[in-house]
Formats: sequence, structure tokens, C-alpha cells
Amino acid sequence: MIEIKGFLETSFLDWPGKICSVLFLPRCNFRCPYCHNHSLIFNPDQFASIPLSDILRRLHSLKGWIDGVCITGGEPTLYDDLPRLSHEIKKNGFPVKLDTNGSNPAMLETLIHQNTVDFVAMDVKAPLDSLIYRRSAGISVDLGAISKSIEILKQGRVEYQFRMTVVPQLHSEEEIQTLGKQLKAGRRLILQNFNPENPLDPSFREIAPYDPNVLREMERMVQEMV
Ligand code: SF4
Repeated sequence: MIEIKGFLETSFLDWPGKICSVLFLPRCNFRCPYCHNHSLIFNPDQFASIPLSDILRRLHSLKGWIDGVCITGGEPTLYDDLPRLSHEIKKNGFPVKLDTNGSNPAMLETLIHQNTVDFVAMDVKAPLDSLIYRRSAGISVDLGAISKSIEILKQGRVEYQFRMTVVPQLHSEEEIQTLGKQLKAGRRLILQNFNPENPLDPSFREIAPYDPNVLREMERMVQEMV
């Protein structure tokens, strides 16, 4: 059963070009060393659960101001009743954006097939290589599942974006280019700079992010790969 552990009324950052509310779901099957949401992953019980009825009431008071609702985590696709939550939000008149690590292609397919999601942002952790991916996700990852999710999104039945959080110690420029070649997603691949504040692995606090100009140049290069 989904427990909603956080609600942000308005965000200008979570849905490209839109103003949205954000729901935070707990727990994740990955352990990315740079993760900022680790309290939501390891200690979700420290946050009170917010009843969906309360959230719907607050969403209705924001009608006309927000463009939709972003469901994020943690990893939302861990929950079998995610389609029900998403459907409920859409039924109340709000488009839904999903943030996912792409580890559950079956859930992604269900959401798209049932038309209960309008935009998907999939975090791709590294080029599709077991060892490199493991370093970035903190666990062994079924790359078959990741590839399947990429394939589902590239069918274009829903708006989508791939995002990669770039950490100098984890991702060389060459590896970023490899991912660009593998995805061939053009401007749908976004590179995000790593933020050293409060990462899951405390040693990552010492890592300096890429220079923003270098990152933008790398993004320009991977976006030319189509
Ligand atoms: S996928 Fe990684 S960054 Fe995202 S919530 Fe899970 S552990 Fe954190």
C-alpha cells in the first residue's frame, strides 16, 4: 500500500516548463552513493504519512495554478498500487509526471497502457555496462530491465526525458559519451550536475562537481547523438 511521505505544493523545477505539485513516496531498490533522499529510503517512518484525501483537497485549492502532479521518490514503481494513485490524481483533473529509475518496465508499460501517466523522467545512472552501472546505482542492476524501460519510452507513447546525474568520480567524459551513443535520445537526454550536499555516501561530500560550462558542453555533445 502506497504511503505518501511528502507533499510539495508548487515546484518550478520538477516538470520541464510546468508548475507542478510533488508527491514523495518512500523506499528505493537502488543505493546511489550521491542520493539526497536517503532519509526517505532508509527511515521513511520518521515522516508522517499524508492521506490521499488531504492531498486531493490541497490539489483542488491549487487548480488553475499548477499544471500537474509529479510522483517521485524513492522509487515510485516499487508499489503495485501506483496505477491506482496515478489514476486517482488524473481523475481529479491533474496530468501526472513520473520520476523513475527504470527498474520496473512492467509497471511503466502498465501506466502508459492505462493512460495514467503523461510524462516520464527516467534517471539513467551510467552507460549500460554492468560494472559501471553498479558503481553508480550502489547495487547490481538488471540492465535488461533498464534497457526495456528505455525501449518502452522511446516508442513515444508518452512524453519522456532521460536524466543522468553526472559525478566526476563516477562518470568520465568518455563514459558519458558512451551513454549518449547508446541512448541516441537527442535533446531528451539531460545531464544534471551532482550536488555534494548531504549524499548517501558521506565521502561524496568531498567531490567537486563538474564545472557547469564543461557539463553543458558534454550535454551539447550527447544531445547531438541521435
Ligand atoms: S534511484 Fe538512486 S538517487 Fe534515486 S531515490 Fe533511489 S537511491 Fe536515490
